[in-house]
Amino acid sequence: MSSFQEELNNIREAGLWRSLQPQEFMGAFDSAGKISFASNDYLGLASDPTIAEAYHRGLKVFGHGAASSRLVCGTSQEHVLLEAELAELKGCDRCLTFSSGYAAAMGTIPALVGKGDVVVVDKLSHACLIDAAKLSGATLRVFPHNHVDKLENLLRTIRAKHGSAPRILVITESVFSMDGDTAPLRGLVDLKDRYEALLLVDEAHGFGIFGPRGGGVCEEENLQSRVDLQMGTLSKSAGLAGGFIAGSQDLIDLLINRARSFIYSTAPSPALAHAARTSVELIRSSLGDQLRATLRNNIRIFTEGTNCENHRTPIVPIILGSNATTMEVSSQLHAQGFLVPAIRYPTVPRNSARLRVSVSARHSVESLLRLRSLLEQLPPSGINR
Ligand SMILES: *Cc1c(COP(=O)(O)O)cnc(C)c1O
Repeated sequence: MSSFQEELNNIREAGLWRSLQPQEFMGAFDSAGKISFASNDYLGLASDPTIAEAYHRGLKVFGHGAASSRLVCGTSQEHVLLEAELAELKGCDRCLTFSSGYAAAMGTIPALVGKGDVVVVDKLSHACLIDAAKLSGATLRVFPHNHVDKLENLLRTIRAKHGSAPRILVITESVFSMDGDTAPLRGLVDLKDRYEALLLVDEAHGFGIFGPRGGGVCEEENLQSRVDLQMGTLSKSAGLAGGFIAGSQDLIDLLINRARSFIYSTAPSPALAHAARTSVELIRSSLGDQLRATLRNNIRIFTEGTNCENHRTPIVPIILGSNATTMEVSSQLHAQGFLVPAIRYPTVPRNSARLRVSVSARHSVESLLRLRSLLEQLPPSGINR
């Protein structure tokens, strides 16, 4: 049996060592020469005073502890109201919240499929989607990233081999977390209808940013009524914490009865649910529109005239390939006041280590231009004109 130390040495030698770095504020910030391009705080709501105030009010009025699973002690009205707000924004009958996006995936996917069923995931899907698919016991198939034709081949083969009985669940993200590109949702929706499959779209990085009311890419592309499960998190654009699934009445009833991470986990704090409702209200308001417009403008300022031009999302990957180079560049940027994380295997495929620049509505034009000019000095595989 190898020791922990041997295992840790292997991680170090592969250039894959990770450690926790203390940080006072984790959202997007841009002050006193320190600028974070590391967070998923795309709208800057992690430090929004209205939401902070709602959190305080929630603590006073509804309390901090939920004390048990919602099926045991009963549900706080705050969770019910938050879910109604989310369901409305998602254009669905119902919504169910979980303690995190990770927990939403881990509860939902095994609740819907099991042995004899098939889960088909986009190759670049987030770890929680893959972990949940494995946990379900269903056969796991992977299609090449955003490749609609290859997905069709897979679905055709599965139906030809197993007939109409197995449940097929197709899983993708709307905005990919480490590549910042978007899924061909319309093509995926047409296919899943044709092959009588279910479709789960993880909108972790689309929610709040896309769509006329910030409902996500499904809203933007007018596909909300055709996607079976819209998954999301309140931890990114919404600036708080918590995951959710929006869908039909029957789907949500099934999750309440079957999703183990919902049933056997204490509900998030009612105060948090109250703050989250305030955040979702803000996202769909005219203030949310303004933040989305600022964000779009910031993305344009950062990418215009470079090889990343016309990038639609706030996630701009700068793929350098080598773990060591990427770590080195990240630490040089840090020395200049810019927090830009190095992302390595196994978060991304081997030899595709990258800087992940995450643009926020909080960033000033000056900071965007300064980072851009620093990055333009990288080798040709970096950002360039
Ligand atoms: C962050 C993330 C999750 C997990 O959400 P949490 O609320 O942080 O647990 C799920 N899917 C994707 C694509 C993510 O980026």
